[in-house]
Amino acid sequence: MKLFGGRNDTPDSPSTVPKTGPAEAVKSGLFSRMKQAVARTRESLSARIETVVALTRTVDEQTLESLESVLLTSDLGVQTTAAILTALRDRARRQAIEGGDELRALLKAQIRAILEAPIFSHSKKLPPTEGPFVTILVGVNGTGKTTSAGKLAAWYRAQGRTVLLCAADTFRAAAIEQLEIWAERSGVEMIKTRQGGDPAAVLYDAMAAAKAHKIDELIVDTAGRLHTKTGLMDELDKMRRTAAKLIPGAPHEVLLVMDATTGQNGLNQARQFTQSAGATGIVLTKLDGTAKGGICVAIAQELNLPVRFVGVGEQMNDLLEFSPAEFVDSLLG
Ligand code: GDP
Repeated sequence: MKLFGGRNDTPDSPSTVPKTGPAEAVKSGLFSRMKQAVARTRESLSARIETVVALTRTVDEQTLESLESVLLTSDLGVQTTAAILTALRDRARRQAIEGGDELRALLKAQIRAILEAPIFSHSKKLPPTEGPFVTILVGVNGTGKTTSAGKLAAWYRAQGRTVLLCAADTFRAAAIEQLEIWAERSGVEMIKTRQGGDPAAVLYDAMAAAKAHKIDELIVDTAGRLHTKTGLMDELDKMRRTAAKLIPGAPHEVLLVMDATTGQNGLNQARQFTQSAGATGIVLTKLDGTAKGGICVAIAQELNLPVRFVGVGEQMNDLLEFSPAEFVDSLLG
């Protein structure tokens, strides 16, 4: 493959690259896509909340208990639900909650605050002065790592950034081929090695190439691994050390790719991963196929990690930058 032949200068088919336009139109377009993505969660959560809220004049303990069971069945998880309920009870004690509308508004504010907290505590690193901003995608097999790497490349391209993909999932030949297809689609170059090659070595090559060609974003796909597989976790460690050697501060972002349809099980897996892989944020995939969107809130509360992006389908532009305000409005608007 010809390297750096200017693919980054020419966007691919206009129909597949997210459209830019007046800021407001783009914003409302993203909002309606988020709304569509959480449609199944909204249907199940809102309908049940409506039932609680519709009958509510002044919010009492019984109302709060009904709300508690609704939140629990919507995959917010025990700990997160308890935190929300504590805040609402506290508020009800200080000042009565006057009816369903007020309860809904307080619930929205509470969920939004939970989603925003990790964004403040994990503010995204600034782009380095020299060399690319390095993002490594990690997670277990089948969560959507390779797909998200490809979509992320297209997303950054649409922001006017130059991008290089690195196929560091050297475990499966299919993963390298799959990423190559995404690279073609999104019009970016890719650095790869043979199957079975050293992922840290291919990362080193990709970083050197990105640096030499003044690429803005380096996106690294890695092999699916379980946190329990020591060998694979060591390999990830080696990649991180390699990255830091070449560009101080790298990797700048380690995104844990998590499948929303796995709900609370995925959350447990993510909890272990966060500690061993040093994740700095989450890409929550397959939000389009689940009524378990409440998991976003549990991630923020229990892992203290910001959801950076959500996957809402299998196409190239089916990746949305996550906004707590939009998410809450889409869900309970
Ligand atoms: P990896 O093993 O983690 O690299 O996972 P892949 O990227 O190969 O994705 C596994 C499957 O999930 C593929 O069939 C993807 O098309 C699908 N997938 C990934 N992200 C999304 C998403 O956001 N929504 C939907 N509906 N499918 C997705």
